[in-house]
Amino acid sequence: MDHFSYVDGELRAENVSLNELAAEFGTPFFCYSAATLTRHYQVFTDALSGVDADIYYAMKANSNLGVLATLGNLGAGMDIVSGGELVRAQAAGISPSKIVFSGVGKSVDELRAALDADVHQINLESYEELHALSAIASEMGKTAHVAIRVNPNVDAKTHAKITTGLSENKFGIAWEQAEAIFTEANGLPGIDVVGVAVHIGSQLTDIEPYRAAYTKVRGLVEKLRGLGLNIRAVDLGGGLGIPYDAETPPSPAEYGAMVQDVMAGIDCRLGFEPGRMIVGNAGILVSRVIYVKSGIDRKFLILDAAMNDLIRPALYEAHHTIVPVTEPTTDAMAPIDIVGPVCETGDTFARQRMMPEVKAGDLVAFRSAGAYAAVMASTYNARDLLPEILVNDSDYALVSERVTIHDILKREHIPVWLSGQGQEKNVG
Ligand SMILES: *Cc1c(COP(=O)(O)O)cnc(C)c1O
Repeated sequence: MDHFSYVDGELRAENVSLNELAAEFGTPFFCYSAATLTRHYQVFTDALSGVDADIYYAMKANSNLGVLATLGNLGAGMDIVSGGELVRAQAAGISPSKIVFSGVGKSVDELRAALDADVHQINLESYEELHALSAIASEMGKTAHVAIRVNPNVDAKTHAKITTGLSENKFGIAWEQAEAIFTEANGLPGIDVVGVAVHIGSQLTDIEPYRAAYTKVRGLVEKLRGLGLNIRAVDLGGGLGIPYDAETPPSPAEYGAMVQDVMAGIDCRLGFEPGRMIVGNAGILVSRVIYVKSGIDRKFLILDAAMNDLIRPALYEAHHTIVPVTEPTTDAMAPIDIVGPVCETGDTFARQRMMPEVKAGDLVAFRSAGAYAAVMASTYNARDLLPEILVNDSDYALVSERVTIHDILKREHIPVWLSGQGQEKNVG
């Protein structure tokens, strides 16, 4: 459920007019709903009310400061995957005691920054990283609280580019090496092994892969305890899918019940890292129609948004529902290809999509554009990075400014040997 709906013939974000936002900020723009973020966070926490649970929002899904601060206010911790995300989380006021650092290749500088900030937990993914962290922590006179991410070799049955729990994927420690690395880690200086972590993929629409992976993890925890390790935490990752189209992902309640069933009596703090499920349907991308182009075989809806703004269709063949901002007055629909202006055939949002009639100049909204959207934007074709607006009832705030070609050119320089007369720069 979200808070984007038609009121008096116009799609609104909570009680804010999208036409008015378009007039004030220009198109395209991202728009997020605070009420939807809050609702999704609460549905997730409610589903885990019987559990000793800590929620670490996976901020790579959407790391805008306004979004982070909204979730931080509700009590969320953050799952980070880079030193940059550590800086962002702290800039949003998140305490490092509520930060878990994940990721397959944390650099020495990133590990040092995490230790320096005293983050709650670092999730390790290789022997190499374990030894690097032990050395850094020892040198700094710190103890790193670590979980080790295991790869349970379970097929999450999601898109190949977002499945992470198969032995062929780069993530986690191979299941066969798990016992050995935990035993080794337990004896290393600067390392306090607190738990086991797992994350098998994203946009999961089936609960069984979760059950299979979590059951294996539970067995591992019991085995490690039998070997004398003091395992106090299990980090169960994220990945719960959302309905983009006709998918029917497990509800948070169903997921919560499965977790309580598999983990009953385990006597561990359970960590959760939902990303998409919190923010995916809390955001839309609003775009203006530039042309409706009539070809011989088909029509094209050419928008001012493009693959650089929202790469999910090009990258994952993802479906986004696209609706006119002005509520259609008839049920009439016709097929049309919906594309952006970028010079790539991949800059196609939908092929032969059934759409109500829209005209040049009209606004359309891409639904479910809160997760893995603005964070993945680029300036390809010398296009802007889009403004992001957070709505809260009838209030709104510009939470990220448009980055224009003039901002971008400020970072670029023509070498002195080309610009003559010692001039460093003659554009911008
Ligand atoms: C990306 C990621 C998540 C969040 O995945 P979602 O599908 O957005 O819920 C959680 N944990 C880890 C380690 C991740 O890399």
